[in-house]
Amino acid sequence: GHYDRRIRKGAYSELSDMTSGFNDILDKMNNLDESRQEFVSNVSHELKTPITSMKVLADSLNTQEDVPVELYREFMADIVEEIDRESKIIDDLLSLVKMDKSSMTLNISSVNINELLELILKRLKPIAQKKNIELLFESFRPVVAEIDEVKFTIAISNLVENAIKYNRDNGWVHVSLNADHRYFYVRVEDNGIGIPQESQKMVFERFYRVDKARSRQTGGTGLGLSIVRNAVLMHHGAIRLHSEEDVGTTFTVRIPLNYVPE
Ligand code: ADP
Repeated sequence: GHYDRRIRKGAYSELSDMTSGFNDILDKMNNLDESRQEFVSNVSHELKTPITSMKVLADSLNTQEDVPVELYREFMADIVEEIDRESKIIDDLLSLVKMDKSSMTLNISSVNINELLELILKRLKPIAQKKNIELLFESFRPVVAEIDEVKFTIAISNLVENAIKYNRDNGWVHVSLNADHRYFYVRVEDNGIGIPQESQKMVFERFYRVDKARSRQTGGTGLGLSIVRNAVLMHHGAIRLHSEEDVGTTFTVRIPLNYVPE
């Protein structure tokens, strides 16, 4: 009867919801596969570049007769630079793998966020001083939260390092801490070069850099912000970005005060 049809109709629309749900999942899996392939090809490219340069440098020293000592030194310095770069990429990759959402190994404890942020900024002060950048911390309230201290530290350090790196001499970086009854908020604000509108969606992607040459020059790998995002998501948090070219950039991280495992 009427009732029966309603049930059948309900069941049908449930079924069609389910199929479209499956399709979504299939789409996601296809994308995942693609992004994994892309990731592997990016990793290989990034890792090979320094190796190729080192080989060229070493080969040319090896095949030349009577290499002047200055040239020898210059090439060796270049090789050391490439080695440093290679180790930075490997370190970042290891952090990224550690913070992959699928390897859910958070080491949660109750942490005084004010103290931790003070410590993080103290460690980064020397880098800021090199560019005469003012590094300020402002706290609107004392915060204690359940976080993974190591992963949170890596995330915030990455944001502050970027704020220094993509800034001019004599610029400033302001870090602030606030909270409501559910979340705490860390804001990292700089008056640096900013991120062009069209790049803002992409900066969290692995290996994405707005300006490859500049990022390379400053020792960037393009992995920093994907590490930050993974760390924040592991805490069931969120990250937001506001930026204007030649004006500055603000990243806001929101993390629950209490960690609830899923
Ligand atoms: P990188 O190792 O290149 O710094 P990230 O993943 O940390 O990689 O950042 C991706 C890109 O986003 C950077 O190459 C840079 O172009 C841009 N970016 C990140 N943070 C800032 C910032 N505070 N100001 C301007 N540009 C930034």
